[in-house]
Parts: sequence; structure tokens; C-alpha cells
Amino acid sequence: LTGPGQLFEMEEIEVRGARIRTWKHAPLTFRAMLDNSRSHGEQVFVVYEDERLTYEDHFRRAATLANRLVEDYGVVKGDRVAIAMRNYPEWVVAFSAALAAGAIAVPLNAWWTTTELEYGLSDSGARLVIVDGERAERLRGCAVPMIVARADGDLPPGAREFGEVLGEVRADVTPPAVELGPEDPATIFYTSGTTGLPKGALGSHRNLAQSPMSVAYALLRSVALAGKDPASAAGQRRITLLTVPLFHATGCFAVLTATMFTGGGLVLMYKWDPGQALALIEREKVTMMTGVPTNAWQLLNHPDLGKYDISSLGGVSYGGAPAPPKLLERIGDQLPKRQASNGYGMTETTALAIHNSGPTYLAKPDSIGLPLAVCDVRVSSPLGEELPPGQVGELCLRGPNVITGYWNRPDATAETFVGGWLHTGDLAKVDEEGFVYIVDRAKDMVIRGGENVYCAEVEAALFEHPAIDDAAVIGIPDEELGEQVGAVVRLRPGVAATAGELQEFLRGTLAPFKIPVRFWFREAELPRNPGGKILKTHLRKETLGL
Ligand code: AMP
Repeated sequence: LTGPGQLFEMEEIEVRGARIRTWKHAPLTFRAMLDNSRSHGEQVFVVYEDERLTYEDHFRRAATLANRLVEDYGVVKGDRVAIAMRNYPEWVVAFSAALAAGAIAVPLNAWWTTTELEYGLSDSGARLVIVDGERAERLRGCAVPMIVARADGDLPPGAREFGEVLGEVRADVTPPAVELGPEDPATIFYTSGTTGLPKGALGSHRNLAQSPMSVAYALLRSVALAGKDPASAAGQRRITLLTVPLFHATGCFAVLTATMFTGGGLVLMYKWDPGQALALIEREKVTMMTGVPTNAWQLLNHPDLGKYDISSLGGVSYGGAPAPPKLLERIGDQLPKRQASNGYGMTETTALAIHNSGPTYLAKPDSIGLPLAVCDVRVSSPLGEELPPGQVGELCLRGPNVITGYWNRPDATAETFVGGWLHTGDLAKVDEEGFVYIVDRAKDMVIRGGENVYCAEVEAALFEHPAIDDAAVIGIPDEELGEQVGAVVRLRPGVAATAGELQEFLRGTLAPFKIPVRFWFREAELPRNPGGKILKTHLRKETLGL
């Protein structure tokens, strides 16, 4: 697959002083991808309920909106254009338009509260924000200019309606002329990295434009490993059911841009619902379902699984959170002949970096698989030495998928990206054949149904409550969601607060998925190491017996 003249020929290049391999034939910028996508013309690109957007529709709308951003809003290269919406076709158009206008697209989490959304807008310094009706309400009164898609009711003062901004969409429209190169910044996704509060992960056009090649490579490598001809699989049109939000790296890169690159169809779900997923797979003849392990798990547990014709479904792929080996077994039992695949990646790796599927996944169900051919893996000791196979250390990655750094955070960037190597904060080992196993997370984070919850952020919000003396957020194992959020708290002497009161208090500032579902009240001080760090493994053992 990767030799000279092969599908995924590689070349070595130098990026910011580090030599890496990249896909020789990958597009270099989003604009190149957008132009290429036009060759799929009248094929359906995005499906949402009974709406259909062809590749040509998408191109024209994105190009038209890009011109409006430049002419009406004065967007210039490098400006930030935020997007805060659920999975609507307008999300896709807004994302493409922002990039085609030369701006940096800043997808914000649609579950965020007003406070969190305002943080994203001010931290990124957004010039404007493209929202849906619900986000418009949450941001009513915010000073950043707003374009509102699917408004319900009055627009906030100063906001304009999406369709009105778009105006006439002409067949001969061309995107604005902006000089963009592969190292120019393209996206900011908020994530906390290994520590602290959410910060903007800044990805380049190269990161974005090579990622669909990586996704295609992972897929075809598993076809090749199964002894079949990858060239025959490359030609099939794929219809993917998007079960996760577009505002996460997985949805955006492992699914949206990957689909756009290959001319496939993308079926959007406004909100994940396993019953509706089954109906959509039948109706749209979906060939692939991609999301987090929880999605696959809930589909298998749905009582109507047997009632729909889902024979079109050829594969179930997931990533973004640990997938229990039992999930693979269940897929084998309940969806025989469907290829399961597990992808490991981070926001900082533009989604996919390591991948396991087909025969190797069956043979090693507890492994996340082999790195992409362009991606180097190194397991590092705390002193930075490379560890031999079998030994556990921090997983470090290097390649064209590794992003530039964090937006306006030189310290965090220097800490996490060292000599081209991304320090993932995941503890891993590699076997003699190069398969990677995630053993634990060194970073202080709970992954609830694929959604990251940063303990430091929830703890900081708890400390705002007058009754809290000390607090530690921990993950509670959960069969369906992987983990749930829990909190161990110590109240100030003589002050009372119930779990319900604390939850209600947090609802004012934190999105619902971050709110602890269970509280443990402790009279003694929380256990800390001599450096003052709370000993969470100790707490987990004490509260959960783990
Ligand atoms: P995010 O940046 O939100 O994509 O989160 C990335 C983190 O999710 C990684 O650093 C891992 O801790 C975890 N993760 C992602 N994919 C997997 C996977 N396939 N198996 C286990 N953990 C994963």
C-alpha cells in the first residue's frame, strides 16, 4: 500500500524543524479538497432528515458564504470564525466557508452553557459566530456578530439570518482568492490536552488535508490485511452515519472531511439515538457507522435491532474512548460479518493516529492497533528515554497529523509538543509486532460516552460554591458510557450542602455532561502526595473499591 507508485505513497518533508513522512498525494490545503470535491457533482454529500445537499450544492453554498464573510464581515486570512451549532447541514457549509475565506474555523461545543461559549469566543478572539437558534438564545447579548441558522423566534439584536446572509447562490460562484499554504492555520478545537482548562488546539491546513488520506489508508490497510484487494474496496461509495458531534475532531476529521475526500454520503443525526440510528441505516442504506464505543454498544442493546433491515451496514467503527474487548465480541455475535474497527486519536492528532480492524483486531481485541504508516510511535519513560516493547510509558506521536500547538498558549505548547513529538498523556505499551495497547490515562480526565470531562475544570467550578472546602473529580466505570463523572468533596466545617444543591449550582456554569452524577462527602482531608496533588487512584479505591 505504501511503496513507490502505490495508493499511499509517502514522502519525507520538514515541518517546523522536524522531519516527518506524509502522504505524497494528499491535498495540501482545504481549498484543494473543496475544489476536488466538485468532481462528485450531483452525488449526495449531506443528508439531514429529508434534506439533501449534493457536492455541487455544498460547493456553491460554501463559496457564496465565504464571499459574504469576506465582503460583509471583513473576514481576512487568519481571522477566527466560530461555529456553535448542532449537526445541521449549515454546520458543514459554515465550516467549509470559513476555511475557504482563509479564516480559522473554531467549532465550539454546542452543549456548552453561555459562560463556556463566551469563553470560547473570547479566547479565540472570534470575529463572528455562526450559530443555530438555540445557541443564538444562549448568546443573546453577546458582542460578537452572529449569523443564525434555523432561528426559532426573534433574532438577537444585530444578528442576521443564515439564508439572508447567503442571498442568491449562483452556479458560477467562485470562492474568494486567498493565498493559503499547508502550514497556515485552519482550525481551533477546544480540548484540555493533558492538564487544565480547555485550550484551543490549533491545526494547520496540512493537518486537515492529509487526515482523509489517513482514514482511507486505515480502512484499506485492514482490507489488505484480510487478504483482499484494496483497490476494489477503494471504488465503493460509502454512506456513513455520523453519530457524534461535528464539533469534535472525530466527527469533523475522521468522518466529515474523510467523507468529502472520497465523495461519500454523510447522514447527520441531530442527536444520537440508537432507535433512530437503526431507522436511518435502513432508510439511507448506510454502509458504515462511525462514532464512539458507546454508540455501538447502545445500538447492540436496542430492543429493535432485529426489526430493521440493516443489511447495507458493512462496518462499525469507533474511537475516541477505550473500547472494551467485549464490544468486539458482541459485534461478532449480533452483527456477524460486519467489520469492527477501533481508532485511537486525539484532537491534537487531527483524529486518527493508530487503528485496529479486521483480522488483527480479532486477534488482538485489547489493542488499538498499528500506527498509520506516516505516524511514528514512541513509548517514553518519565526521563524521556524510549522504552523497549512490553514496557509501559507515555505514548508519544509524531507525524503530519500532529497539530501545531495550542492557540496563544506557548507554555502548554512547549510542554506537550517536544521536538515534533506530541506527548499524549496516555500510558501505553507496544508489543513485538508494533501493536499499541493503552494501559491507563496519566491525564486527569474522565471520558463519558466519548465526551471528555476535564477534572480540573469541574473541580474549579465546585470551588466556586461557598460550602466546598476541597474537591476531587473521578471517573466511575459505566458499562454503557465507559465512565460517569463522580466527585469526592469535603465541606467547610459547619456548612451543609447536598448533592442536589451542588449539581444545581454547577448547572449554572457547566454543560450538563460535565456535572457529577454522584457525590461522596468526606470528613477527613483528601489524600495528597507531598507535592500537593490529590491521589486520585487512592480516592477511587476508597470510594469505588477499584
Ligand atoms: P480527544 O482529544 O477528545 O479526542 O481525546 C483523546 C483521548 O481519548 C486520548 O488521549 C485517549 O485518552 C482517549 N482515546 C481516544 N481514542 C481511544 C481509543 N481508541 N482507545 C482508548 N482511548 C482512546
